[in-house]
Amino acid sequence: MASALCRSVSNISRRCIAYSSLRFASAGPVVDPQKGKLVSDAVTMPDGLGHSVGPERWELLARLAGNEDPFEMKVNKRTGGTLDSPVAVPSMYEKRLVGCICEEDAISINWMYLHKGEQKRCQCGHWFKLVEMKPIDIAA
Ligand SMILES: [Zn+2]
Repeated sequence: MASALCRSVSNISRRCIAYSSLRFASAGPVVDPQKGKLVSDAVTMPDGLGHSVGPERWELLARLAGNEDPFEMKVNKRTGGTLDSPVAVPSMYEKRLVGCICEEDAISINWMYLHKGEQKRCQCGHWFKLVEMKPIDIAA
């Protein structure tokens, strides 16, 4: 009984943590955080959004708000890359893993960690710099 009670308390706390991370780490215009979760006369069964939880739900809500790349996974073309104007790589964290395709016909990617506040040079000679990205709140 005690273990079942502990499990249900931890499940509730996990739900609260997931919900709060959704509120503070999402992007775009306001989207109803309960969208798809509540039964109405028009909807009898929850849709895909209603069944989703955690990161999947955050991603779906961000896409509904107009952010097509919520995890910043899109491949960006290098612009600049000199010591004076390094390639700006956005991140919400202290470091980020970056892959450089040094030549157009390269068959491998050079991976490197970029740390906040320092520039790093790839083997091909291009410079990279981590720039701060602010999280946008969709549930505000
Ligand atoms: Zn490179």
